Formats: sequence, structure tokens, C-alpha cells
Amino acid sequence: MSVFKYEKNNDGIVTITMDMTGPVNAMNQEYHQAMHETMDKLEAEEGLTGVVLASAKKVFFAGGDLNDLLAADPSDAEGFRQNTEAMKADLRRLEKLPVPVAAAINGAALGGGYELCLVCNHRVAWNHKAVQIGLPECSLGLFPGGGGVVRMTNMLGVEKALPFILESKRLVPEKALAAGMIDATVDTLEELVPAAKAWILANKDNQDAASQPWDRKGFRIPGGPINSPKNGQLAMMGPTMLHQKTRGLLPQAIAVMDVAFQASMLDVDTALRIEGREFARIATNPVAKNMITTFFFQLNQINAGASRPKDVEKSPTRKVGILGAGMMGQGIAYSSAMSGIEVVLKDISQEAADKGKAYSEKLLAKRIKRGQMDEAKAGQILSLINATDQDSDLQGCDLIIEAVFENIDLKHKITKSTEQYLADDGFWGSNTSTLPITQLAEASSKPENFIGIHFFSPVDKMPLVEIIVGEKTSDAALAKAFDYVQQIRKTPIVVNDSLGFFTSRTFSTYLDEAANLLVEGIHPARIDNLGRSLGMPVGPLQVQDETSLELSRKAAETWAEMGVQDKWGDGAIARKVVDDMVVKNGRGGRHHGGGFYEYHQDGSKSIWPGLLDLYYDAEADNQDQDIRDRLMFRQVIESLKCLESGVLRSVADGNIGSIFGIGAPPHTGGFIQYVNTYGFAKFIARCEQLTERYGDRFQCPQIVRDHAASGELFA
Ligand code: NAD
Repeated sequence: MSVFKYEKNNDGIVTITMDMTGPVNAMNQEYHQAMHETMDKLEAEEGLTGVVLASAKKVFFAGGDLNDLLAADPSDAEGFRQNTEAMKADLRRLEKLPVPVAAAINGAALGGGYELCLVCNHRVAWNHKAVQIGLPECSLGLFPGGGGVVRMTNMLGVEKALPFILESKRLVPEKALAAGMIDATVDTLEELVPAAKAWILANKDNQDAASQPWDRKGFRIPGGPINSPKNGQLAMMGPTMLHQKTRGLLPQAIAVMDVAFQASMLDVDTALRIEGREFARIATNPVAKNMITTFFFQLNQINAGASRPKDVEKSPTRKVGILGAGMMGQGIAYSSAMSGIEVVLKDISQEAADKGKAYSEKLLAKRIKRGQMDEAKAGQILSLINATDQDSDLQGCDLIIEAVFENIDLKHKITKSTEQYLADDGFWGSNTSTLPITQLAEASSKPENFIGIHFFSPVDKMPLVEIIVGEKTSDAALAKAFDYVQQIRKTPIVVNDSLGFFTSRTFSTYLDEAANLLVEGIHPARIDNLGRSLGMPVGPLQVQDETSLELSRKAAETWAEMGVQDKWGDGAIARKVVDDMVVKNGRGGRHHGGGFYEYHQDGSKSIWPGLLDLYYDAEADNQDQDIRDRLMFRQVIESLKCLESGVLRSVADGNIGSIFGIGAPPHTGGFIQYVNTYGFAKFIARCEQLTERYGDRFQCPQIVRDHAASGELFA
């Protein structure tokens, strides 16, 4: 029996109910066979009035099988193309049946699932938030190559179709209806298939209902073809804007725009062939492998709790105490209250605590203004935050997170004085960005309940939290921190204790290499531009201005006092630059009146001229590719060292942490995945070359040589 159930009723309507092996319907070999046989049957069917495409699963159809896509061999792109063509040919047959075909969308129809809907003449969906509609392939390094780009373009026109595809939008039925991506909705599941059948009966004599607009004579694409004069602006500015946004690093986005432009000028069959060719090129490209690995498999692994101790029961946080209502504390308070957690926000004065609470008030007011929230809900969230200067208000908190100044003595002091207010079995988290958790825990009477919960700034926007396990931290504390981070809808990575943990330590190499380049005489604008050209969100000098050079100076001072200054590498040059800037020239960074850049009244910025006097050497000789690789390899090598030494507990934590926490270029799949597709032998050779030219900091970690020998990817 086929996994596509085939039922014909007395009205001559055939309902195909997809019920594939496994939890979801997906585009794999089993689908291919079932669809092919179904098409043979439908084409031979006598007295056919129409076809309903339905699903027996919770998800309507899940799209391409990502395991297959991951395995797609670049050396067999032609074989891949032929398979895709065969699959698309059956979809085209369904589209060309001389009777109306309706999709009854009962669950998510994303990617290949929505491409299946696109070949139908009518799309009706259950109006429920579990039903998501869209083409999110670009977010995984792919593009809708099963006809999605061509049909969306023909249906909506180039200008309207592109944002849905390029931005990987997922829409609930109401929004999909408004966008013209579906034709109708029903309120209950029971009404769904009957509604599809009713539409077929109402349209059985309507010729147009049995054909796609693009297959009818005289069809004109909405908005016109891209080479029509009125699309001149779009044809010129579209690629420019895309390049500006993606810096040319996402081949799938370029392919989408290219195929959409061509589809607007060509007949559907030709356009589908071009799309298939491009799809084979993109799907077998390293970027697709990187993005599928990290954004699908590894992110799912993390979200499913792979790094959480299994045998500890879930324990939601009910009342969180936050010490320090500064930049970080106020953000943590907001994120916690937004998730319904009671918050005690404590600072040294009532005024400082109130100021911290006012931050939430400001963000909530913005939400109200944008129509994302009503006043009552905002008031309810705000009432969860108790701003105070009294330690005793912390009584009964099941979690306290300290976010006071980065000073070990202060942190020790407040641990000793406030720990007593924790509920029995309560836990203590430190938001320190640099101090070792094991050392901070020394002040605690229960170091097993002490853990690092490292947020990123701005807390309300940044999706990642780095959880740091100290030497004495228990599984129960780890589970508590993990659950809390998920409760506030952020992604937790878990790392072992080390100076700078994983993210700060790796990120600092980006800044450190920029300092080396500066001192060698490279123009600062060139350093920042090349950093951005890698796909890093901000150049290394600019980002240090933002996070503050003064902070770097303070951290270096603290570490020197603790005697851990050069624990993971020689930072002498970076310290010299910070010293030159902050101590000798009073350039502490953006919020200290300027740093590497000068910030002007009109919001613009320019390189601080003194910086050129300090280091710039017009004769300094260096190729762009070397500069780029130096900025990238330092971070990759540091990540590998973290993996090698056990600071990173998994490859997934390293990849997700590097992208969400440090800003690693998404197309690389993160700093560790980068090596998988760069190629081990090539990576080792490049490290050797850079070592010879620029020093030992580029030495290839042994772990890469081990993987090269075994041939095993970092997974
Ligand atoms: P901040 O200076 O903005 O805020 C610190 C707050 O702590 C101040 O409001 C201060 O009044 C308060 N405070 C000082 N002593 C206190 C006490 N005894 N009890 C209660 N409150 C007290 O600092 P921040 O940028 O929010 O950083 C706080 C912590 O978070 C630091 O450990 C820092 O390393 C860490 N961190 C900062 C960032 C960042 O980007 N700023 C990122 C991650 C982690």
C-alpha cells in the first residue's frame, strides 16, 4: 500500500492523504515513488472532478530531507540536479491536471511543503498558530529549488515575492492570506477537507480554476518582468542592496534574486529548469552544509537539551533576584519579567534600582506604541519587577544573579552578605564576563550551587546565554541555569570554567589581531573594512570602541592583579595599544568621548587622526587576503583550543556560541564548522604559512591534525 492514501468519492473528487513512514511527510525517495505512482493513477483516472491534497500528520509537509541534502556530494551536482528535475516533473504533472487541485493545509507547510501547495490551484488552511506557511530555505543556506522561487515570482511578482524568500519568512495563515500566499482559511480542522472539496465542486466547470495563471494564454506577471522600464529601479537597486546586506557571502540569496529576475522574463518551464540548475549548485555548496549543520541539526540538539544533565528534574524559576540594576541587570530584569518571572531588582540606592526598572518601562512603552502589546499586559509585566535597595527583599528567591561591577572583591562581598536570602536549594549565578567562576565561588557557602550565567549586551536583543560550570558546580545548578535560560526564551550554551570562558576569550583574539595589524602600520579603516568583509557584524576596532577600551584596560589590570594575565596567549601588543589609547591619550571608547574613532554631532564618525600618527605606515605591506585570514583564523584557532582543552563541551556549543554570541559569520556555520568545509589539509597548510609569516599564534592546534588523520569531521 502506498504512503499516499488514494480515495475517490461519489463526486469524482480524489483525496490524496500523505502519511509517510516516520513522524513527518518529507521530500525523500519514499515521497518520490509515492508521488510518481499517484500521478500515474490520477492521469489515468476516469470521471475525475478534482483532487484534494491532504496530510495525515500534524505537519502538512516538512520539505526536503535535510540529511539527504547534507549528504549531497559536490562532485555529483549533476546527479543531484537530475533527481531534483524528476521530482519537479511530477509536481508539474500535478499542476497540469485538467481538473482543480486544492491543498488542505492542516499544519506547517514550510519549504518543500509550501512548494507542494504552490502547484495546487487553491490553498485553504486551518486558521491556527501551529500552521506556519513560508519558504525558509535561505536561512539554511539553500533556496526553494522545487519550483518555489519560480511560482512565487509568477504569483506575486518579483518585488513582492523576494522578501518572503530572502528573509525566510514564516507566516501564520491570516498573514499568508493577506499576502496572497493562500486563498482561504477555516476555523476548525473538521472543516478543512470539506472546504477544499466544496471549492472544487463550486469550480468544476470553471476552466480557470483548473489551470495556473502562468499557464494561461496572455498571462502577465504582476508588476511586470524585471526588464520592463517600470522595474528599472528594482533591477538596479535590488542586487546592490542585497550585496550591502549580505556582503556577497550568501550564494543562496544571490541565486534567489537571479532566478526570480529570470523567471519574470521567461516561460515557466524554462524558468524551472534554470532554478533546478542553480539549486544543484547551491545545495552542494559548502555554505549549505555549514548552515544546515549548525542552524538545523546543532541548534535543535542544543534546544532539545543535549548539554543539560538528564537526571535532574525540570525546575522553573519563580522568583529571581538581580543584584546590580546597571546596563546588564536592567536587561536581565526585563527578559525575566517578560517571561512571567517575579523579579527583585536590587542596587545600592533606591534611585539606581528605579532607574533600572525604568528601562523595562521604556521597552514596554515601545511595544505598546508598535501595537505589539496592550497597556494592561505591560502593566502586569512591570508589576513583576520590585526595584529595591534592601537585601531582605531577596528573601525566598530560587535564583540570584549578580551583575555588579566587574570586581572580584565586591563580588565576593555581596555573595557572602546576600546568599542567606536564597530559598532552600536556591542557586547563585554570576554574570561576570571575565572572572573565573571557580574563584568567585570561593566566597559561597555552597559552591556546588554557584554557576556562571553570562549574558550579552543588549540583553533584550541578544539570543545567547553562556552558562559556565565551575570546578564545584553541581548538575542541579547546571540544570537550573539551563532551564532558566530557556524559560526566558534564549539559547543556552554550556562551557567549562576558564579565563574569559569561550566567548570572551575567542572574541578577544579578533581584537588582539587588530591591535597587531595596527601596530604593523595597516590603516585602521582597512582593518575594520576587511573584518566586515569576512561577515563579522562590526570591524574589530569599532567594536572595541563600543564595548569600551576603558573596560579592556580595567580587565587587563584585574587579571594582572590576579596573576593570570597571559594565561591564554601573549596579549602584550593589545595591552600596549589599550595603554597608548586610554592612558596616554585619554581615548577610552565611544562612551568615554571617543576611541579609535571620533564621533560627531550629526551621528557620523571618522578615524581619530591621532591614531594614524601613532601607528600608520603607508609602506606597510600586507595583502587583503592575509589580513582577512588573520582576523578569522585567530578566532577559529582559539575556538579549536577551547574544544581541545575541554572549555567547550561540544562542537554544537562552539558553533552556536560563536554565531549568536560573538558574531561569527553565519555562512561559515560557526568557528569550528568553518574548518570542516575549509578542508583539514588546506587549513593546516594555511596555518603553517601564517605562522611562518606572522608568528606562533597561528600554529594549528593538534586536534585538527588528529581529525585530519581520522578523516572525521568536527561534529
Ligand atoms: P554597570 O556599571 O552598568 O552596572 C553595575 C551596577 O551594579 C551599578 O548600577 C551599581 O550601582 C551596581 N552595584 C554595585 N555594587 C552593588 C551592590 N553591592 N549591590 C547591588 N548593586 C551594586 O555594569 P554592567 O555593564 O551592567 O556589568 C555588570 C556585570 O556584568 C559585570 O560583571 C560585567 O563584567 C558583566 N557583563 C557586562 C557586559 C557588558 O557588555 N557590559 C556583558 C556581559 C557581562
